[in-house]
Amino acid sequence: MPVRKIVKFDEEKCDGCGLCVPSCAEGAIQIIDGKARLVSDTFCDGLGACLGECPMDAITIEDREAPEFDEAAAMAHVAAEQPSPKAHHSVPHSCPSARLRDFEGTPSAQPADTERSRQASALTSWPVQLTLVPPHAPFLKNANLLLSADCAPFAYPDFHQDFLKGKSLLIACPKLDDTEAYLHKLTQIIQQARPASITVLRMEVPCCGGLTWLVRKAIVKAGLQIPVEEITLGIQGGVLSSV
Ligand code: SF4
Ligand code: SF4
Repeated sequence: MPVRKIVKFDEEKCDGCGLCVPSCAEGAIQIIDGKARLVSDTFCDGLGACLGECPMDAITIEDREAPEFDEAAAMAHVAAEQPSPKAHHSVPHSCPSARLRDFEGTPSAQPADTERSRQASALTSWPVQLTLVPPHAPFLKNANLLLSADCAPFAYPDFHQDFLKGKSLLIACPKLDDTEAYLHKLTQIIQQARPASITVLRMEVPCCGGLTWLVRKAIVKAGLQIPVEEITLGIQGGVLSSV
């Protein structure tokens, strides 16, 4: 077997976020058991288009014995993997964020208290979707920003009271939305609005870590120093960590 260039994943570093999967036009990468892996050595062309996508620096190119890249087989694999129109928005079933769970009968980590739940909305700005908010919006100027994962308010009943109060809200999903566009928008917001702080409210599933990665990368691109707090919510409603 010839020695050639081929990608290598560092299992220690890989958190299974899946950001590298769509970057591979050959369909060579899949998340299997929570880690990025090559579906087949013959699908990897060794050019490393996925390298720049990994927020964990988990992908490198190595020289090792491997069968030659088979473009025809890779394209046939990509075509076979195309979702049917009906399943267009489905996500890979190997991804933890798509795993079905049934909470029926198990107490929530944060019970919805009737009195607290009826408190007034703490939302002070609109729109909230990151795509729709212009960088020059006055409510972003020197604000304490809350960048929330789309799923967070549904998992945490007291979202308004505990996280939103006193902050300008932006919401996004790093798994299903256009992350390149988000990186550009966040960089513009940081450069133009110079927020006082950014709190990232993400879910525990690995793919949601892309939200924090986007913020940190945008801050570096903007060339500014902005304090960032990352709060991770469990899918049953509790706060798992705050760093
Ligand atoms: S992008 Fe995510 S899934 Fe892919 S190798 Fe890096 S950490 Fe692992
Ligand atoms: S917001 Fe986070 S948890 Fe929800 S689908 Fe997107 S990446 Fe997954």
